[in-house]
Amino acid sequence: MLSQESFFPCPTCGSIIGSSAPRCKYCNAGVDPQAAALAANLQQEVNAACDDARMARSAAGIMWIAFAIQVLAAAMGLLIFIHILVGVVAVRAMAMQFLLALIGQLAFIGTMVVLPFMLIRWQSRYGRIKTNDVDFKRARRNRNITLLLWLPAPIVIALVFYIFRSRS
Ligand SMILES: [Zn+2]
Repeated sequence: MLSQESFFPCPTCGSIIGSSAPRCKYCNAGVDPQAAALAANLQQEVNAACDDARMARSAAGIMWIAFAIQVLAAAMGLLIFIHILVGVVAVRAMAMQFLLALIGQLAFIGTMVVLPFMLIRWQSRYGRIKTNDVDFKRARRNRNITLLLWLPAPIVIALVFYIFRSRS
C-alpha cells in the first residue's frame, strides 16, 4: 500500500496530503507512516463508497425514468387504440410505442433487480466504516435515498400484475 501514493486528510490540520510524505506540506506536522497508510486506506474506501453510492442512486433514478417511459408508452397505446392517432401517423406511432414500452420495461426490471445487489454490496463493503468524513455521510444518505427509491418498485410490479390478472 505504501509503494503506491495515495491521499488522506492530515490528522493535525485536515488538509489532503500524500501518504508517502514524512511531513504535512501544509502544517508541517510529522506523519506516522503506519497511521498514514491506514488513513490513506480508509480514504480510498470512503472514495469508493461515495462512487458506489452515487452510482446506485443514479440507477434508482433511471429506474423511475424507465417507469415514466412505460407510462408514456401505455398512454400512447391508449391514444392509438381509441384512434386519436390515425392514418400515416399510426404506423410510426405504433412502432414508437412498441419501442418505448420495450425500453421502459427492460430498464425498469433490470434496475429493479440490480439495485438490491448494489445496496447489499455497498453495505457489506462499507457498512462497517466509521468516520466523520462529510463525503461518507453523503454516501450513506445516497444509500438511504436509493433504498427509499427502490422500495415502491416491487409494490408497483405487484399492483400491475394484480390488475392484469383481475382483468383476464
Ligand atoms: Zn497538516
